[in-house]
Amino acid sequence: MVEARGESFPEIRESVRKLCAGFPGAYWRARDREREYPTEFVQALTREGFLSVLIPEKCGGAGLPLSAAAAILEEIHRSGGNAAAAHAQMYTMGTILRHGSDAQKQKYLPAIAKGELRLQAFAVTEPGSGTDTSRISTAARCDGDRYIVNGQKIWISRAEHSDLMLLLARTSPRDEAKPTEGMSVLLVDLREAVKRGLTIRPIRTMINHATTELFFDNVEIPRENLIGAEGQGFRIVLDSMNPERILIAAECIGDGRFFIDRAAAYANERQVFGRVLGENQAVQFPIARAYVQVSAAAEMVAKAAALFEAGGPCGTEAKMAKLLASEASWAAADMCLQIHGGMGFAEEFDIERKFRETRLYQIAPISTNLILSHIATHVLNLPKSF
Ligand SMILES: Cc1cc2nc3c(=O)[nH]c(=O)nc-3n(C[C@H](O)[C@H](O)[C@H](O)COP(=O)(O)OP(=O)(O)OC[C@H]3O[C@@H](n4cnc5c(N)ncnc54)[C@H](O)[C@@H]3O)c2cc1C
Repeated sequence: MVEARGESFPEIRESVRKLCAGFPGAYWRARDREREYPTEFVQALTREGFLSVLIPEKCGGAGLPLSAAAAILEEIHRSGGNAAAAHAQMYTMGTILRHGSDAQKQKYLPAIAKGELRLQAFAVTEPGSGTDTSRISTAARCDGDRYIVNGQKIWISRAEHSDLMLLLARTSPRDEAKPTEGMSVLLVDLREAVKRGLTIRPIRTMINHATTELFFDNVEIPRENLIGAEGQGFRIVLDSMNPERILIAAECIGDGRFFIDRAAAYANERQVFGRVLGENQAVQFPIARAYVQVSAAAEMVAKAAALFEAGGPCGTEAKMAKLLASEASWAAADMCLQIHGGMGFAEEFDIERKFRETRLYQIAPISTNLILSHIATHVLNLPKSF
């Protein structure tokens, strides 16, 4: 493994590496081929307490900072695995932690920490709204002590492998003057909802991601499942997005390091023209460049995590970290594939699978253009284009 200088949480990283050694490339290839959820891997992560590190100790978790969760996800990805099957459990609970009532925290967080309840799904995106969240049309109409939900969501990952889901829905119609108001966050018990009007339809994609489409047909949700104030859902969701972006950026760093490890190892062993590939500077330099890019992006991820942990604003840094890390991991993926020549295309090397997987992060959970647009208008004071 190529040295990554000054790594935080060395003991946690070592335990994650040990766990991941039990889930080698063959495990991930088999799941990928059949588009199967990596249940055994997620159960092992849960058993070892890795998914509850961010839950406060008083609620049964480890109460560790965000950078510890980032180290866990980075190591999973560096080992060749994919944490996307479970990463949402780490950050979606933050919505309940920061905006839920005491009763909600008591009811859900200890059970999530114990692994008795899975909160793996977060439903925001809709076919008709795309990136413009203010245009979601899934509606939650208040009727006495319940909401009645109708509408459709798309790209909702892990809904089939979760007990609970956070849902962003309109509780009042869109007002042009305040387009981001009038949305609310509801906690949906998926085990009940699928019996009463919720249809979950899997979408087969270029990666094994357990993502789905959801159809709500008069689904009833108890009013007590409203998280935070009614109408303030957009702000609540935004608040949860910073840790999500930082953690996904950490996964990209792990991917980048995986590609660098593999490329350096292959360049040191593959013989062509009577010498190892790595003797050629035209082979060395792209690996060195990827190392520089991933290391620089890792610094930004660490900075964004530190700002989040200090409780200050970190939205811009979280977005910059995600942009830099997703571009660095993609550049490293391309480099690694090139250095493997034809072997990069062989399933058994895991390069082609990781290449497909790391591409997602320039699109989800927020696409590169939207980050650039934020920097342009919020940091550089350029005029808004939408
Ligand atoms: C595998 C997968 C898993 C996902 N999981 C979830 C999930 O669990 N929950 C959830 O809610 N969502 C999820 N998503 C949705 C994801 O967050 C969105 O796909 C993403 O935010 C982009 O939205 P969109 O696909 O609607 O793209 P669109 O909004 O249709 O945009 C298409 C492209 O145009 C660009 N673009 C749009 N508007 C502009 C503009 N004004 N200027 C410049 N460029 C622009 C975008 O950057 C993008 O590249 C997932 C998506 C995928 C593919």
